[in-house]
Amino acid sequence: MTHPAATPSRLRVLTGDTPTGRLHLGHYVGSIENRLAFQDVHDCFFIIANTHALTTRAQQSEAVRQDVLQIAIDYLAAGIDPKKSTIFIQSEVPAIAELTWYFAMLLGYGRLMRNPTVKDEIVMKGLGENYSFGFLMYPVGQIADILAFCADAVPVGEDQVPHIEMTREIARRFNVTYCGVDSQADDAAHAEAGVFPVPQAMVGRVAKLMGTDGKNKMSKSLDNAIFLSDSAKEVKKKCSRIFTGRMSATDPGVVEGNPLWQYHDVFNPDRAEIDDMKQRYRAGKVGDGDCKKRLAEVLNTFLEPMRQRRAELEADPDRVMEVLYEGTSRANAVAEQTLWRAKQAMGFDFFPRRVQVQIKRT
Ligand code: ATP
Ligand code: MG
Repeated sequence: MTHPAATPSRLRVLTGDTPTGRLHLGHYVGSIENRLAFQDVHDCFFIIANTHALTTRAQQSEAVRQDVLQIAIDYLAAGIDPKKSTIFIQSEVPAIAELTWYFAMLLGYGRLMRNPTVKDEIVMKGLGENYSFGFLMYPVGQIADILAFCADAVPVGEDQVPHIEMTREIARRFNVTYCGVDSQADDAAHAEAGVFPVPQAMVGRVAKLMGTDGKNKMSKSLDNAIFLSDSAKEVKKKCSRIFTGRMSATDPGVVEGNPLWQYHDVFNPDRAEIDDMKQRYRAGKVGDGDCKKRLAEVLNTFLEPMRQRRAELEADPDRVMEVLYEGTSRANAVAEQTLWRAKQAMGFDFFPRRVQVQIKRT
């Protein structure tokens, strides 16, 4: 059996974002940059994972809806081209929900609870003991997001790597359980004889961009993010508040582990300028204020073209809906086919069916 995307040069790529807010600089360097490069050469699917957003926002479904549209605008403003890649809405692809159910049966509860990303998120998002049952389901849902598209490659930030590892285990377990693939088989044998290829995580240029709080990774839920859609003024303000831990401009500054310098390293193209500023910073000869001001200029130069494209898209909401509709239609065609092949392998192929979405204008 070969899966639909299997050609050596053109891989199937799946990745996406949870609409818990807009996209930030961490997303850009952790994943979007890779997507822009991949869309020219691979078969890319980008999922807006709105059902996963309910893990922490079940009471705010209307806000999640708005963020679906905002993330779609972020994608297009960042340069994702809907003629080259498929952008779609998770909740409108029912095959994903069905596969989630089957995969949940193949994943041990203990294994899920040992997943370090799950543990970290519970702490980082302050969920304590109060997370929903659905919160624990989201990594399983993510496995279904990826495998529904028979993805070979998944561009993600470092925090998501444990989820991809679990996805690899489940792809193998499904193929062993229902397709007769040998439990010792390598990835190539799984791609050949199983329903699901064993996908690879592809970590971006920056595995983890720190937040402006200097503590956590930049995250849209932690109030420590600079968003792609922030105004020039907001960027300036956020830069001025980056936590560096330095008390005064004449103190010797620490560069390592300092978000101010990580941002310069990642976004400032002028290497000589960075080296000079870092040297003076370490020697207590330049204040945080000057380095932050320069950073704001660098970031605003980088973000300005995206802001302009965003303004055009905001003025044309029908165009955004059209992109999502086309993408979701295409996504359903692929995911239904995968689900059917999975059900055939399981002997659950009782009745073939078709899923069709229809555009509803607001
Ligand atoms: P939330 O706080 O709701 O979890 P998030 O900011 O972590 O939001 P996600 O939607 O969970 O964003 O992540 C989308 C993608 O971006 C994932 O591949 C994730 O690994 C990557 N990513 C998120 N934050 C960063 C970061 N700070 N640095 C690098 N990659 C990141
Ligand atoms: Mg996250």
